[in-house]
Amino acid sequence: MKFGGTSVADLTRIERVARHVAAEVASGKEVCVVVSAMAGETDRLVGLAAAAAGEGLHRNADVDTVVSSGEQVTAGLLALVLQREGIAARSFLGWQVAMRTDDTPSAATIHHIDTTTLANTFKQGEVAVVAGFQGVSPDGRITTIGRGGSDTTAVALAAALKACRCDIYTDVDGVYTSDPRIVASARRLDRLTFEEMLEMASVGAKVLHTRSVGIAMAHGVPIRVLSSLTEPGENGACTLIMDENDIIERRTVSAVVPSRAEARISLLGVPNVPGKSGIIFTALADAKVNIDMIVQSQARAGESANMSFTLKEADLSLAQSILAGLKDEIGFTDLMADQDVSKVSIIGVGMNDHSGVAATMFAAFGKKGINIHNISTSEIKISALIPADYTELAVRTLHDAFGLGEVSEGGA
Ligand code: ADP
Ligand code: ASP
Ligand code: MG
Repeated sequence: MKFGGTSVADLTRIERVARHVAAEVASGKEVCVVVSAMAGETDRLVGLAAAAAGEGLHRNADVDTVVSSGEQVTAGLLALVLQREGIAARSFLGWQVAMRTDDTPSAATIHHIDTTTLANTFKQGEVAVVAGFQGVSPDGRITTIGRGGSDTTAVALAAALKACRCDIYTDVDGVYTSDPRIVASARRLDRLTFEEMLEMASVGAKVLHTRSVGIAMAHGVPIRVLSSLTEPGENGACTLIMDENDIIERRTVSAVVPSRAEARISLLGVPNVPGKSGIIFTALADAKVNIDMIVQSQARAGESANMSFTLKEADLSLAQSILAGLKDEIGFTDLMADQDVSKVSIIGVGMNDHSGVAATMFAAFGKKGINIHNISTSEIKISALIPADYTELAVRTLHDAFGLGEVSEGGA
């Protein structure tokens, strides 16, 4: 069971979380709980660390020491509340579970979890309450695994413990056809495939951390997304994320996902010779900067090309400084950065055997005067980069164009 920031925002909510845990314990299950920091707390800690570090705060192990501390508080508080309610429980920090990660500050990857300690905890009839989002590097430093990473802590633990499922409790009662905060007519989806959820998360739907879905898919851990804001048993609604083979209906478009946290870098005058893209993207990959939509203008032999790509807004200054350092080696003339862009994506497993999906999307944009900068596609996704001011209009337009608000569950 994983509880996010809003679910543990204060003691009253932590008490409700304890009732959800108690209900699972009462049904005879061994329970491992993962908690996030209280809502807003990680942002506050990031701000403190940034103020302390001053200029040049990029990736620094001591930032993780600060930023991981919110989860320590909630893990302890939930264990205390559970004990008060007569449920045997104890808290664990990442290093105590032996949540082993690599040594990339702020973006560490989980490599291995030693389940011996947790197995002993269950044997003694105790609930394990684990601090999400944090781990320990090979040289013993505290690491964090990326914003929103407690989902990944939970699914990784579920996989390692061979749990029957991983329940992600949050402030909505499931995954919707679009962010319910933007689209009033968004509907909850009863079921979604791992592939669809992976695409949704990776293009920016906040509801699940991308790597959590990748791990669930690789290890076959069924995920339920459900609300912690109701009492146990009060609202049976949830979204089940499962294998495609177990889903009969294949919707062409299941969801529309906006992401405002995008930025675009354009490199002008890149010499059109082999090896330049390799230098650019290797340097960014080494710094764990994820690159998304890449567009290169056509250039004749001997001429220079322009290249543009998108990345997370949070990585922009790091990427700019890396590329500026390679200006001579790459040989570009100018670097332009643009933060006033956002990405809107449509996702659906049925898309790969339906034609006309892109046509519907772009015609709908055209009718509303929404200009498209870049386009990228996968078998089950189409993303468009557009001016940020048009984000909400674009999302509502696509939600309507694909009939997502009206069609009954499982319909076309
Ligand atoms: P938590 O703190 O529990 O991890 P998050 O804020 O990370 O919660 O994720 C839940 C939020 O995700 C919801 O409040 C909702 O606004 C947002 N969200 C974005 N897209 C969707 C979607 N398609 N379905 C449901 N929620 C979504
Ligand atoms: N507390 C961390 C964050 O705000 C991790 C999480 O909530 O999943 O990003
Ligand atoms: Mg989250």
